[in-house]
Amino acid sequence: SSFVVHVAYIDTPESHGVLVCFEDMTEREQAAQMRRDFVANVSHELRTPLTALMGFIETLQGPARRDDKAIDRFLGIMQTEAARMERLVRDLLSLSRVESEERVRPREPVDLSGTIGSVLYMLRPMARERGCEIAFDPVEGIEVPGNADQLQQVFTNLVENAIKYGGAGNHITITIETLDKDVTLRAPGVAVRVRDRGPGIDPLHIPRLTERFYRVDTHRSREMGGTGLGLAIVKHIVNRHRGRLRISSTPGEGSEFMVILPRWTASQG
Ligand code: ADP
Repeated sequence: SSFVVHVAYIDTPESHGVLVCFEDMTEREQAAQMRRDFVANVSHELRTPLTALMGFIETLQGPARRDDKAIDRFLGIMQTEAARMERLVRDLLSLSRVESEERVRPREPVDLSGTIGSVLYMLRPMARERGCEIAFDPVEGIEVPGNADQLQQVFTNLVENAIKYGGAGNHITITIETLDKDVTLRAPGVAVRVRDRGPGIDPLHIPRLTERFYRVDTHRSREMGGTGLGLAIVKHIVNRHRGRLRISSTPGEGSEFMVILPRWTASQG
């Protein structure tokens, strides 16, 4: 670690002396390094589809100009690449929004089962397309203090991941369970578990999954349309809601993403 040393000479009628102050720069340097890495990652993630787009535009202007088949195929690829850039920009904006509002506590009562229900409604086509079954038993009347859009985003990202990485014959279960006095929350809470029966995640990777752009398998994530930001967004939103995210997995059996949130109590109304 490194230090900056501040020195001040004190010369007043009451006292004389030197004040020496050591400032630990490690944390500040780490933050600066993280910012640099982030910018480098974003640039790289944007440049990959951009390079592809530029290449295809050039080909369409030149050699493939009159080749209808090639034109169709290249436009298809260009659309995929442009959609990838769009998703990345969308996720970056979400992340920056939740980060900049870090200190504002969301306090609307949000109906948890209703929120998860609408997430599942929207993801049903994607699940069906991949032959994936989702089981969810709603529990009526459970509310959490929060922001409905953000909580919807949390469960969208988790269920989307379970569908994307769950593999063939996947079966996802979502459960809600109330916690009377959760030890970590020190208040009445609620736990939502999103469980899949996919190939699971090596425990080695688990602590890093919520880092921005961290992926276990970059190629697979790209192929699935991932941006590498989904779980970073989840973690931020859950933190803003004074909640916890716990990830556990048994390789070969599946993974479980558990979100613990404080419950809305009558005194908050
Ligand atoms: P991505 O856009 O790549 O999906 P995320 O931040 O959502 O980014 O997830 C980070 C990584 O965590 C993924 O690339 C994947 O390797 C891993 N992952 C997330 N959810 C699951 C899951 N349900 N099963 C297995 N691996 C997962």
